[in-house]
Amino acid sequence: MEEFSNSGSGDIVLAIAERIIENRTYLSEIDGLIGDGVHGVNMAKGFGIAAERLRGQAQPLSKSLSVLGDVLMSEIGGSMGPLYGLMFSGFGEALDGVTEIDALAFERMLRKGLAEVQSIGEAKVGDKTMVDAYSPALEAFLTSIADGKNFAAALDALAAASEKGRDSTVNLVARIGRASRLGERSRGVLDPGAASCAIILRAFADGAKAKIAEAQ
Ligand code: ADP
Ligand code: MG
Repeated sequence: MEEFSNSGSGDIVLAIAERIIENRTYLSEIDGLIGDGVHGVNMAKGFGIAAERLRGQAQPLSKSLSVLGDVLMSEIGGSMGPLYGLMFSGFGEALDGVTEIDALAFERMLRKGLAEVQSIGEAKVGDKTMVDAYSPALEAFLTSIADGKNFAAALDALAAASEKGRDSTVNLVARIGRASRLGERSRGVLDPGAASCAIILRAFADGAKAKIAEAQ
């Protein structure tokens, strides 16, 4: 049985925060092409504050995700504050009380996070948002498990699909959010939220895989 403990895995959130902070300039540059150019700055600020709060604390993963969700919700500007705030709070809620995180618990968490994002944002695949990275990633995870792949392989599929989904946004016209004001002119560049979402899902998948390997 492939799984990892909730109690020993809060540091995955620190690893996700590090990736976002490293990509601060990249994400703001992308946002500069079809948005206001501060996506990376806002994200790095929020993830940085959460990392400060969590560092050295050995909190469970569920609790760390909830702390990150609360910080993003209250402390960062832009569309992504509430969207990622709700997503991470949803992740935390879905894992709350779970002792060992297996593929099924991870699937429940992923479903809950996407449901939260879509409950306020109403974005669908093709609208050129973070959902274009997230939704195919969840699908790939489910397909891998249904095909009999193990948890680690499903996490690889999740991360790869999120990056493919991110790349699919280049050819899309934004139908939602700030970039939608540009109409056709939003075509030809990546969506910044899809880019940050792929970074988050890759870091989460890598962190979870490392925990699974440690537990075996
Ligand atoms: P702002 O749009 O206020 O400048 P950010 O730059 O932080 O906010 O985030 C922009 C990203 O937000 C977009 O690239 C898109 O992926 C995402 N986004 C915007 N609106 C929505 C929505 N309704 N649902 C999902 N994602 C959205
Ligand atoms: Mg922006």
